[in-house]
Formats: sequence, structure tokens, C-alpha cells
Amino acid sequence: MHSHTPNSKIPRQTRVVATIGPATCSQAQLRALCERGVNVLRLNFSHGTHEWHRGVIERIKELRATGEFCPAIMLDTKGPEIRTGDVAEAWGIAPEEMLTLTIEPGHEPAVTGKLSVNYDGLVRDARLGEMIMMDSGLVRLQVEAKTDSDVLCRVLDEGKVTSRRHLNLPGVRVSLPSVTEQDWEDLAFGAEMGVDLYALSFIRSAEDVSAIREFLRARGAVAAHLIAKIETPQAVDDLADIVSVADGVMVARGDLGVETAMSAVPILQRRIVKQARAHNKPVIVATHMLESMIESPVPTRAEVSDVFAAVLQSVDGVMLSGETASGEYPLRAVEQMVGIITEGEAYVRAQAPACALEADGVRCELARVAVRMAADLCHVQGIVVMSRTGYMARLVAGLRPSKMVYVFTDRETTYYPGQLLRGVEWSMVEFDAAHPEATVQRAAQKLSAMTLNDEPRQYIVISDSLIDGKMIPMIQVRTLG
Ligand code: PGA
Ligand code: MN
Repeated sequence: MHSHTPNSKIPRQTRVVATIGPATCSQAQLRALCERGVNVLRLNFSHGTHEWHRGVIERIKELRATGEFCPAIMLDTKGPEIRTGDVAEAWGIAPEEMLTLTIEPGHEPAVTGKLSVNYDGLVRDARLGEMIMMDSGLVRLQVEAKTDSDVLCRVLDEGKVTSRRHLNLPGVRVSLPSVTEQDWEDLAFGAEMGVDLYALSFIRSAEDVSAIREFLRARGAVAAHLIAKIETPQAVDDLADIVSVADGVMVARGDLGVETAMSAVPILQRRIVKQARAHNKPVIVATHMLESMIESPVPTRAEVSDVFAAVLQSVDGVMLSGETASGEYPLRAVEQMVGIITEGEAYVRAQAPACALEADGVRCELARVAVRMAADLCHVQGIVVMSRTGYMARLVAGLRPSKMVYVFTDRETTYYPGQLLRGVEWSMVEFDAAHPEATVQRAAQKLSAMTLNDEPRQYIVISDSLIDGKMIPMIQVRTLG
């Protein structure tokens, strides 16, 4: 169907983050993810060697070089995770059985009953009668006794013990550093490879974020965009400060649901999204969004509703983890996600006018007027922004305009991290500092290719004009394309 009503072809605004793993690391699968609309490819450094990640990053860059896709690359750190050691062979456990966790050095791969743990503080930190959660809470272990090197636990749930299981000690301020030795190495690797976004696991304070920023800057990654993962109670307590120093946040519901109460997760999600919106920082909702699709070709109705809820909250991105990393239906998971988003956004658009942020200064007011005009003038197709640093793009996108935003920049360090911003389609264009109008003309040529319009359309354009040697920001209503 080809219709000429201006709003008939509004693309999807909510961004999709997909985690790369064995199911999706080939060139063909990476391409297939991009073809289905994935905007950010996430590399989870809890798994894989640098060599493996290097290969994936190189393949993503090849894909970008074709000019067909522009996915951002996100490095997600492992963080201070407590993990069990290797087992010789998996075994089943059942309620009432005992399981020993040991910090004894040189413990051989476990056969049965006794598991090594990579965290020497475990015996000190574990509290009698309290829970240790295995596999993000799938199996609860109740601490019954301690020796100098062992924690003896009663198993409360049925489950399976396999190698390197994730353990959480809810409510315990684990004495591991927020950023581990391995994390620093991984961050340095990211700087070397020039990744666009860094998702910071288990950070506890704004200082953690600042320390990482300094570290990356010193390694030349001056434009690194830092996404603070909110997954510890300490991070929830320091939320406002973390959001103000980070470039974005992730509602990391997996660990958040174990470290705090599971039933608090939806409320925390709302709080975190609200806080991020108030600071106009992009926010990603992550984990278990279409979890059942790891094994099933269709999601549960509850999962569909969960993705829709995130769309209703006007988040920037929704994330797939195991669904795309190791699931059986990675491409279908993306298709489902895109389908739910598209329907959800159409519903939202039919309901509500654009929401507004507090105005702060002339540029913000310009952005507000542009968004307002785009909403009010029904023949206007979208908003075109010329933005080198991405600042104006963020202002406009932050106002959650009902129409698409087409941003033109000349910097890759603006272009790629910007892929996360809700409702923004990006394009690279050469800027002509002496002739801003020439830049707009260049952008106009690209616009028709981007929008696939068969005839010119009207846009609200935010750009600079050069008057008496001074750059004056201005808004125009123009026919382009
Ligand atoms: P993870 O982070 O997948 O790296 O654990 C996200 C979460 O905890 O939800
Ligand atoms: Mn996590």
C-alpha cells in the first residue's frame, strides 16, 4: 500500500538492542539482525575472549562499511560477578539437599556436592539463615553453616548445577570493587577497538562512572558514551547522581530483581525511566523481555505486554539478551519485538500529544518550538536537525516528538552512539562551516533516500545560518527531498 498522507510511513521510534552470542555472531546473522531493524549490537563481556569479540566487532564494522546499516556497538562489562567454578559434569539438585560452596584454592572441577566460588569474601559475607541466589534466583540456597573456607547451604529449589553459575547475595554489600581487573582490561580493549557505547555492570555510584570515563579518556576514547546499568541497591540509592554523570542508563532487571525484591522491579523501572527522562538521558529496558523465545518461536502474552509497557513509558531502547545471543529463534525474537513496538507506538500516537521537558535556554526553546510545529502542522513529515555534537538532536528527541527526527552530523562519534536515541534517524554529511545552507542542501539530497518518499515533503529544519559572521540558530519550514 502506498499512501500519500504524510503520517502514513512513520518509522519505528523505540530502538532495539540485541546481544550477540553464538547464535548471532556470524556475518550473515549480524546482517540479518540489522535487516530486521536492530539499532545497537551488544557484546556481553561476561562471556567470550577478546579474540572472539574482536572478530565480531570487525564483522560489524564491515557491515557498516557497506553503508547499508549503522548499528552502534555496545560493550557490556562483566562487573564484579560472583560465579561458581567449573563442574566436571552437570548434576541435578533438589530441595532439602545440601550444597557446599568453597573458597579453598585449587579446588578441582566439582563432581558433586561441593562447588568452588571465585570470590574469597564469600565466607565472610554470607550470613547464616540468609539466601544465596543461584542463576538469578532460579535456585535459592539457604546458608546453614560456615567453616573457614566453606559455606554449607540447604537447597530450596529444584535445579541443575552446571559450570560458572552466577551467584547473588541479596542485601550484602559485596566487598568486590565495582570495577574489577578484568573490567579495566575489557574497557581498555573497547577503547582500542573504538566501540561506541559502554554498558557498565554493577556500578554503585556516580564516582564509579566518572572513574571509568577518566580511564577511557586517557586511552583516547574521549567520545565514549557510558550507559550506567542500574542493578544494585547502591545504584538505586545514588540514582540521581548516576543519571546526571552517565550518558544513559539501563534498567538491568535481571540482577535488579535478585539484588532487590522481584516485586519491586516494575516500580524501580518506572523510577529509573522517569529519572532518565528528567535528565534527558537515553534509557534502555533490559532482560527477560521475550525470554521464552529462547526456546519458543512465539512469546508469551505477558512478554508482549511487557514490551508494550516499555513503549508506553517512552523509553529509548528495549533489549534482547539470551533471546538473540544463544536462543533458538534470534531473528524471530527481533521481528516480534519490532512488531510489538510498531503497534504500540501507533497506539500511543493516536492517544497523546508530545510531552514536554522543562525549558532551559534558547536552544531548548528552539527545540520545543520545532517539536510543537511538527506536531501542529499536519503536512509536516518530520524534523531535520543539523547537529555536529548531537546536543540539539538530544534536545529534540528528548521532547518525544510525534514525528521522526532526521539528524545530520559530520562526526562518527556523534553518529554511532546516537543510534540509541528514540525516534532519530541519523545520516553523515560533510559540514560546510562557511556556508550552512550548503550543508542543508547536502542533507536534503540524503533525506529523500532515507525516507523513501517518492516526492518532496515539508520538514521543520533546525540549522545554523551565518549572519554577519555569526552562527545564528534558526527554524525553517521547508520542502525537501
Ligand atoms: P546482564 O545485565 O545481562 O549483563 O546480567 C542485565 C541485567 O542484569 O538485567
Ligand atoms: Mn546484570
